[in-house]
Amino acid sequence: MPEKKSAKRVDRRAKMASRSGQTTKKAIASKRTHALDGAGDALEPDASALARIRPEVRDLIPDLVALRRDFHRHPERGFEEVRTSAKIAEELARQGGWKIRTGVAKTGVIADLETKDARGPTVLLRADMDALRTQEDNPGLAYASTNPGVMHACGHDGHMAILLGVARVLARHRGAMRGGVRLVFQPAEEGPGGAEPMIAAGALENPRPDAAFGLHLWSRLPIGSAGVRPGPMMASSDELFFRVCGKGCHGASPHEGIDAIHAAAHLVVALQGIVSRNVNPLQSAVLTIGRIQGGSVVNAIAEEVVLEGTQRAFLPEVRALLQQRVHETAAGIDAAWGTRTEVEYVSRYPALVNDPRMTGLACEEVSALLGADRIREYQVMGAEDMAFFLAQVPGCFFFLGAGNPAKGAAWPQHSPHFNIDEDALPLGVELLVRLAERFVLPPGDVAKRLRDPNAAAGRRRAREGGAA
Ligand SMILES: [Zn+2]
Ligand SMILES: [Zn+2]
Repeated sequence: MPEKKSAKRVDRRAKMASRSGQTTKKAIASKRTHALDGAGDALEPDASALARIRPEVRDLIPDLVALRRDFHRHPERGFEEVRTSAKIAEELARQGGWKIRTGVAKTGVIADLETKDARGPTVLLRADMDALRTQEDNPGLAYASTNPGVMHACGHDGHMAILLGVARVLARHRGAMRGGVRLVFQPAEEGPGGAEPMIAAGALENPRPDAAFGLHLWSRLPIGSAGVRPGPMMASSDELFFRVCGKGCHGASPHEGIDAIHAAAHLVVALQGIVSRNVNPLQSAVLTIGRIQGGSVVNAIAEEVVLEGTQRAFLPEVRALLQQRVHETAAGIDAAWGTRTEVEYVSRYPALVNDPRMTGLACEEVSALLGADRIREYQVMGAEDMAFFLAQVPGCFFFLGAGNPAKGAAWPQHSPHFNIDEDALPLGVELLVRLAERFVLPPGDVAKRLRDPNAAAGRRRAREGGAA
């Protein structure tokens, strides 16, 4: 009976999660790291966790690196990921065990694992596929972008390689699993957004996933560390477009016109007052005007000025307050200076909100693999359209450290010099496999691993004579 089955699934999920839910706060070290200051605290690059990954993931390392470099060499922009999605589908088909759907929301790929028993929870794992409109500047890099003006400068090449590695491991063991794993390779994360159209195309149906996980490789966090928090972790993102209309005239007779530049200047300053005077200082918001254009000649009053900007917030009420005050402020400027200002407000991504219980699971696995002292509470004003999945399915998105100056991975995301420490690839595979196992392996197997997370790998290493 469907009702009974779904109740059971929810129960199981709650049970698994409750073991760890309350430990979320404890599991996250109390020190806060601010993403954008770059330095964070004194965490050093440390890839010793590689010794704790299972041998079959270690065996995958050459393939993971080759896949990531292939994607890096051939970056494609949002909704143009044609070669990329073909490569993903081909790789999954070669592995076997996956029911593959291509062309979802243009270039997206969905793959469902055929386990031995479909009754049971379904876990969704997500990677994004798109590259940026950036000219790579990494001289001498053997696998540099061959697509002029386009670059994987955000690590999505690594996300795809990781999820394909996860696919390989899960497909091998699907005979021991029940329930389902759904892999979602989504286009256009950098814009205009591929998650929402993939959901519209059925990414969260038949069956509806019980949990969702994803990660972002992050160069601001050193290799062998991670950042996450329950609740809002990344900001909502909305775009603002203003057209300030005045009346042009001679620059020596401003009283005969309406100066759009003067009014626009007031507008820019007044907008910052919303953040500093209207938003609760204990809640965060950013309002940035990133483009301004107006006027044509040195001695004329400008008739029109165009301004464009972005606003960020973690809480829906702050997001709504910003929107309301932006309109009121523009109207106030018009009243003061006689301009007529058109405001266009384009909603992009909601805030990314991590489910506390799922974040507890992620923290448990990250702590077991990387060490409890290698995980930080983390929050950034950047936006992510994984937020759309997490708005509908309880889940957790976390940052996995990929920074390592010794390997040239010292530049921030979106830099033309961006690169990652590829040791993060097998760590990402191991983490996502472990999270999936929490849902699709018999609870006894998971409990055994949790009691002694290193035992199985250690025993095997000892047999193989390898060093820990
Ligand atoms: Zn990005
Ligand atoms: Zn990204």
